Formats: sequence, C-alpha cells, structure tokens
Amino acid sequence: MHTAATNQLVLYDTTLRDGAQGEDIHFSLSDKLRIAKRLDEFGIAYIEGGWPGSNPKDFSFFSQVKSLNLKQAKIAAFGSTRKAMLAVEEDQQIRLLLEAQSPVVTIVGKSWLLHVLEVLRTSEKENLAMIRDSVQFLKSHGREVIFDAEHFFDGYKSNKEYALQCIKAAEEAGADFIVLCDTNGGSLPWEIGQITSEVCSSCKVPIGIHTHNDGELAVANALWAIKSGARQVQGTINGYGERTGNCNLISVIANLELKMGQKVLPDGKLKELRELSLFVDEIANVRPNPKAPFVGRSAFAHKGGTHVNALQKLLRSYEHIDPALVGNHRRILVGELSGKSNIVLKAKELGIALEENNPNIQRVLNKIKELEAKGYEFESAEASFALLLRKLLSPYPSFFHLLEYHVSIRQLPSKNYKVCEATIKISIHGERVYTVAEGDGPVHALDRALREALVKFYPAIGQLRLEDYKVRIIDSTEGTASSIRVWVESTDGKEIWSTVGVSHDIVEASWLALFDSIEYWLLKKTENG
Ligand SMILES: [Zn+2]
Repeated sequence: MHTAATNQLVLYDTTLRDGAQGEDIHFSLSDKLRIAKRLDEFGIAYIEGGWPGSNPKDFSFFSQVKSLNLKQAKIAAFGSTRKAMLAVEEDQQIRLLLEAQSPVVTIVGKSWLLHVLEVLRTSEKENLAMIRDSVQFLKSHGREVIFDAEHFFDGYKSNKEYALQCIKAAEEAGADFIVLCDTNGGSLPWEIGQITSEVCSSCKVPIGIHTHNDGELAVANALWAIKSGARQVQGTINGYGERTGNCNLISVIANLELKMGQKVLPDGKLKELRELSLFVDEIANVRPNPKAPFVGRSAFAHKGGTHVNALQKLLRSYEHIDPALVGNHRRILVGELSGKSNIVLKAKELGIALEENNPNIQRVLNKIKELEAKGYEFESAEASFALLLRKLLSPYPSFFHLLEYHVSIRQLPSKNYKVCEATIKISIHGERVYTVAEGDGPVHALDRALREALVKFYPAIGQLRLEDYKVRIIDSTEGTASSIRVWVESTDGKEIWSTVGVSHDIVEASWLALFDSIEYWLLKKTENG
C-alpha cells in the first residue's frame, strides 16, 4: 500500500536543499523556517528541508520545523542510500535520517552503471542491495520513502536494463515514489517524455521528475514528463540550484494550472505566485529577475506604440495570460516610442482618468521629449514617470521643501579611507530640520541624511531601503558638456520602484533621483492610507 495518492499530481519543493546549493544562495536556519512556513501556506505538498547527515543546521531544521505546526505540507529529510559494504543499521547518515523524525524521507541512489563502477567503485549487485536495504529499512520505520534515481536518464540511455533494475529494487522494497532525475540537466524534452512513459508503463509505483536547467529545458522537461505520466514534480522557487539551476517551480505551477488544466494548488493560491517568488528572493537576498516568465516585472511590460494601441482594444492581443491570474500586473512603458495610447494607459494604471483627446496629453508628450533630450530615460524609472504625470495632470501638495544640501568627500590616504559626507536642510510642516550623514558615495550619503531628516515625521521611512543605484555618463543632445544620469532602485520590502535624475553634476543628479524615490513612496503611502 503506497502512502501517496497515485493519480493526483503533487508538487515537491527542494529550494531548501537542492536550491541552497546554488552559488550565492545562503539560508540561515530562521530563513529556512520562514520559507517552509510560506511554502506550506501556499499549498506545496512536500517540502524537502535539507540533509540532516550533512550539517548541524539542517539537522536542527527538522526539530524546529515541528513547532511551526504546518497546515498541510509534509516535510522530507534528504539523504542517500547506505554506504557500500556496510549494514544499513550501522550507517550513521541513515540513522540521522531517522533521527530527523520527518514523515517523509527522500534518498538518492545511483542508477547509471558508469557511476556505480567509476564513482562509487562498487559492484552492480551491491548498488542494487544498497537501494533495496535503505528503502526497506526506512519503510520498516514507518516513513514515506521517495527514491531519487540519480542520473536516471543518462543511465537509461547507456544501459536501460540496469537503470530499470535500480528502480525495480526500490519498488520491490516498498518505495512510495520513484523520482527520475536528469541530474546533469542535459536531456531533451522528447527523450524525457519517451523514457518517462516507458518507465510508467513498467512500474506500479507513482513516478516523479527532477530536472536541472543546463540546457534551459528544466521546465519543458518536467512538463513533458508530467504529460508522459509523472505524478510528482520536483523543483525550486525561482529555479535556484547548482550551476544553471533546478527546474523553476514558479513556471511549472503557472503552466500546469493555466495551460495544462492540472490543479496543483488550493483554490485562490495561484494569484499569490508572484508574491511567493519575491518573498523567497527577498529572504535569499537575490535581486528578482525582471525577465522571469509569469512573475517578473517585465513579464507583462509593453513598450511599442502599436502593441499598446492594440492592447487598448483587446488585452489578449499581446498577452498570453491575464497577469492578475498570477498576481502580476501589466506595465505600460514610456519613452521615445510612446504614443498617446501609452500615456492614456499609463495614467489609468496610476488611477488618473484621461481621455485620448485630452489636450494635456500633448503637454505630457512634449515634456517627455524635452527631458529625454536632457538625458532622462523613463523606461526603467517608472516611479519618476508616475510623478511627472501626476504633477502635470493632477498636482498634489509637496511633502517637504529642500533648503539646501552639501556633499563633501574626505580622503585619508594614509588610512586608505574615503568617506562621503552629506548635510541636508529641509523645511517640513513649518519646522526646519538639519541632518548630516556619511556614506560610501554621494547617493548613499544623501539617502541617509534625507531619511534621517524625515524619520521623525514619517517613522515608516525606516523600512525604506536603497536597493541599487547606477551612475552613468551620457551625451545629451543639447550639445555642450556631457551629463550624468543617476538611477536609483528603492524598496520598502513589499514593492520595488525606480527613479532617475539627470544633471551635469553627480550630486545634483543623485539628489533628484533620491528625491523622486522618497516622494513617490510618500505619495503612495498617503494615498493608500
Ligand atoms: Zn538535483
């Protein structure tokens, strides 16, 4: 009797184990617990928490995750089959798998003869015994056991009989799922499809799929395996993982639910997809990929005037799905190619009603042209554009007045030390505020001084963070001297927005970009309550 329901397709997340093996991904214990909780709330069926045999942090995860009282997800501990020529009950790594006390244990084993002989340096027979003993032992301790057949597709291609013997050994020993792994990530979708369907027809145990993205095919490969009979799909949020990453569960989920008619999430959860993606990036301290399909900020961004015009008539014309289904939204970009349609749609996005024949539209277009000639670029600085529109179409009172600012750089070559100091004087609600702050450069120093000046009046400004900035020298079409464009990206932990400032002077350009960033946040905050 298998523990898993055989016909229901289930999601298996390995962000905390395989995903954590990605370059630059580091999770603390509390990071891992927060992610596990979020994945459970989202409706992921299995959460692989780590490898208890590999480090103490992973081991403590399993004791602490119990106190989270997860609603529905099953926690899986990950390990490998027993060592060669060692009794299973004497294998320390297997013992730790039991001590983790997770309801599910996933063990990886060899199914490619080349690895058995050359890497493990053991015999064909011993490897089969290792699989059988390990699965049986864990089953006898009441665990749901998932067997990951490592390098299965490569193994199957080079020695089909032996690869099948490996998974038969796991099946006979009572495994609840057998997962076919494209460990090196080099297989093609049709190969995965054919092999998966051959395996499905010869096994009674439900089959799962675990793919890597080395050929940029991890998602396609997983979907094809599902179409060919796989009932479990393994992957990571945002495709984190070693080398080029694992199968991205975000894209898998969206495709399954929206394109393949496969329900894998509880009702109403799909629209949290973007939020989940951003949440995990935030914890991992990874900059969200703007081009991420479905959830990236550019996923539904439209720029070309003809596209925007067509979108106004029929949204379907240039969008493969309604962005709201996955919690994303449409963005109309403005810039040189802008026509009146872009302005109308953009204004609508900002909650400003505007008819196409409104004479103010021409004013906006003229202003954009004028600023672009100076070196402004609004395509990647939407918040500055939103403010520009608001100022021209429905003005709002200013939040504070700048009286003066000053930036100086102090060099102490003997100490190899360089610091930027900014002072700011502003007037706010009739009060004069004067602050000084240090930073790594003018943008950083001004940002700190400005926020310090405002924190008394807007305490929530403490959540605001300068995420990134770029300084660029540009040739403006005005002739004369070249200008400097400063681009700033800010976040309050929930939203990310970008602003821009242009001047002949780097300090002024920095100030303009920062001013827009803070003003944008204040405006949104006061309007959304
Ligand atoms: Zn893997």
